[in-house]
Amino acid sequence: RQRVLSGIQPTADSFHLGNYLGAVRQWVALQDDYDAFYFIPDLHAITVPQDPKALRHRTRIAAAQLLAVGIDPKRSTLFVQSQVPEHAQLAWVLNCITGFGEAGRMTQFKDKSAKQGRDQTSVGLFTYPVLQAADILLYRPNLVPVGEDQRQHLELTRDLAQRFNTRFKKTFVVPDAHIIKGTAKIYDLQEPASKMSKSGSNPAGIVNLLDDPKVTAKKLRSAVTDNERDIVFDPANKPGVSNLLVIQSALSDRSIEDLVAGYQGKGYGDLKSDTADVLTEFVTPLKASVDGYMSDIPELDRVLADGADRAREVASRTLAQVYDRVGFLAPL
Ligand code: ATP
Ligand code: MG
Repeated sequence: RQRVLSGIQPTADSFHLGNYLGAVRQWVALQDDYDAFYFIPDLHAITVPQDPKALRHRTRIAAAQLLAVGIDPKRSTLFVQSQVPEHAQLAWVLNCITGFGEAGRMTQFKDKSAKQGRDQTSVGLFTYPVLQAADILLYRPNLVPVGEDQRQHLELTRDLAQRFNTRFKKTFVVPDAHIIKGTAKIYDLQEPASKMSKSGSNPAGIVNLLDDPKVTAKKLRSAVTDNERDIVFDPANKPGVSNLLVIQSALSDRSIEDLVAGYQGKGYGDLKSDTADVLTEFVTPLKASVDGYMSDIPELDRVLADGADRAREVASRTLAQVYDRVGFLAPL
């Protein structure tokens, strides 16, 4: 069976719609046909300043959300990155075959470090994509389902895999990015030119799955649109309206054309309130399910520990090969 792998950072108390529609929704579908590895990259979450207590909570609630949307820990290996030390170990080796200039060209690093200022930016943020490459290559997946913003990091992962294979011996599978058309980039409600982001967006621009639906409805009502009246799908000229259409279409399983036809003679207010209704229907049972998983932390932690054990079986085999091939002495 082919293998699939992906991760989502514990950098907020809730996933947002971009995380769900761009990535996590595909994870659920893929676990039927693939040997799936899904994890919560808490090592990545400390590349920007974090509060320890919040990180612990966010790691658990990320797991609870994955279970609530339908990740089945019996079929998929669900784990927390820091519980599998091979990730950090392989990252070191990959750091040593990554060029400084190559890492400096990553646009996510350039954006995040420009926002923070150079003195506030950690070296960890700089090598973030290399750790991500380690996350992926350890498991030799064929497919990595991600949003559009991860395309460049996936390209780096592929380059590093090929470089290692050529310089030493064929060790890694060169993975393909699996980027869904249509929902690969959900935009910020207040800045429809930027992607919705857990750590980068203004709260008014983010639709969090675990927010009170009334709060979400209010955010949608104040979503930035344009000065026209017609509801048409035109991402270049009408990014705000188009984003709402994409969201409503994805959650209602109705095509965008179908929605647009129904809005003939109606206004932006209708589009916003219908989108809020569809969202409310989706998040209400989801929130209840997340609360259920969060009400039994020992059990949640056990599910994650079991996932980490299964992940280590695969990860340790790959790391042992890598260590041998770069010339490290085998442990006695
Ligand atoms: P952060 O701001 O902390 O980086 P994030 O919102 O970018 O958070 P990640 O945990 O980095 O979320 O990414 C998890 C997954 O969600 C990735 O596959 C990423 O491509 C996808 N994703 C993130 N934002 C969006 C978006 N706006 N639209 C579609 N997919 C997205
Ligand atoms: Mg991100």
